[in-house]
Amino acid sequence: MREALDALLVAVMRLAAADAAAVWLLDAAAPDRLRLAASRGPGAPSSSELLADRPVDQRALTEGVAVASGSLCVRLASADHVFGTLHLQTSSSLPFDPLLIEQVCAVADLGAVALAAATRAVALEKVEARQEQFIRVTTHELRSPIAVSQTLVRNVVKGYAGPMTEKQKHVFSRISAQLDMLETLVNDLLDLAASRAHGAVGVGPVALNGPVGRAVLLLQPRADEKGVALNYRACRDEIVVEADEEGLDRILVNLVGNAVKYTLPGGSVHVGLCQTGDEVFITVSDTGIGIPPEGQAHLFEEFYRAPNARAANITGTGLGLAIVKELVERFHGVISVESTVGQGTTFTVVFPAYRIAK
Ligand code: ADP
Repeated sequence: MREALDALLVAVMRLAAADAAAVWLLDAAAPDRLRLAASRGPGAPSSSELLADRPVDQRALTEGVAVASGSLCVRLASADHVFGTLHLQTSSSLPFDPLLIEQVCAVADLGAVALAAATRAVALEKVEARQEQFIRVTTHELRSPIAVSQTLVRNVVKGYAGPMTEKQKHVFSRISAQLDMLETLVNDLLDLAASRAHGAVGVGPVALNGPVGRAVLLLQPRADEKGVALNYRACRDEIVVEADEEGLDRILVNLVGNAVKYTLPGGSVHVGLCQTGDEVFITVSDTGIGIPPEGQAHLFEEFYRAPNARAANITGTGLGLAIVKELVERFHGVISVESTVGQGTTFTVVFPAYRIAK
C-alpha cells in the first residue's frame, strides 16, 4: 500500500512539476474525514500530521477536480470505490493547464487501480493468516484425542480388554494404521504452519554436520528394517550455515525419510554434505522408484503425491516437501530435484555458507 502511494506521488509530481504532493484517504472509522496517508516535497504536510484528520474537500470528492491558486486536488477513485483525494502544490502563480489537469486525473485513476489491488492483497493476507491460525489451532486440538485413541486401540489389540478373534484383531489393526496416518497428517500440518511462521527468530550460525548426522541416525533403523543401505560419510570439517537447528532437522528428516520410504528393499540411499567456495551442498540420492517428469513440477505443492507413489501403496500426506521448501527458502537456500522413474532420485539443497565477517 505504502509503495503504491509513494509511486503515485513520484509520478504525479514529475508530470505536473509540482513542489509537493499528498494523498488523503477517507477514514474507515469516520467516513466524513480525510486522513493523510502519504506526502512528498518540502511544502507537503509533514509526517507529524500523519494521524491528523481534516475536513473532506467535498468539491474534489464530488466533482472529481478542485483547482485553486497554486493547488490542484483530484479524486482518487476506482470503478466501485472512492479512496480519497490527491493534492498537488506548485509555487507558480500560473493557472493549471486543462490538459495537465486531465493527465493528472488519468494518473490518479491508475493510482486508484493500484490502491484497489493493494487493498485486496492486504485483505487476502488477513484471510490467509486467519486460515493458518484455524489450521494450527484445530490440528493442535486433534493431537491428543488421536494419541489417546491410538493407545486404547493398541491396548485392545494386545488383548488387555479381553480375548479377541482373529477377525476382530484384523479390524482393530486397520483402525490403528488409520490412526497412525491421521497422526502423521496432523504433525505435518503443524510442521507446515510452523515453517510458515515468518520471521528470523532463532536464526543464527549452525553447523550442518549435526542435523545431517542426526537424520541419518534416526532413519538408520527404518532403513535396516527395510533392507535399504543408508550411507553417509560424516564430514570432518564443520560446515556452517545461517539457519535454525530445528528447521534444519525437519528438512533433513523429511528428505532422508522420503529417500528410505521410496526405495525398495535391496536399494540404497546416499547422503552427502560438502562446501564449495561460498556454497554448501546437501545431496540425498536414492535408487528408489523415481518421480515421473510430469510430477516433478508439482512436488513442492501441498498435498501433491506422484501417481507412482500412490500406485505403489506407499502412504504419505504430500506435505513433507512443501514444508522442506518453505524452510529451505527461509534460510536463503534453493532446492532442486533430478529423477528417473525406476532408477532413483537426487534432491540437492544449496545454502549460502555462513561468513563471520558479513
Ligand atoms: P509424502 O511422502 O508424505 O507423500 P512429500 O511432500 O514428502 O509427501 O513428497 C511428495 C511426493 O513426492 C511423494 O508423494 C512422492 O510421490 C514424491 N517423492 C518425494 N520424495 C521422493 C523420492 N525420494 N523418491 C520418489 N518419489 C518421491
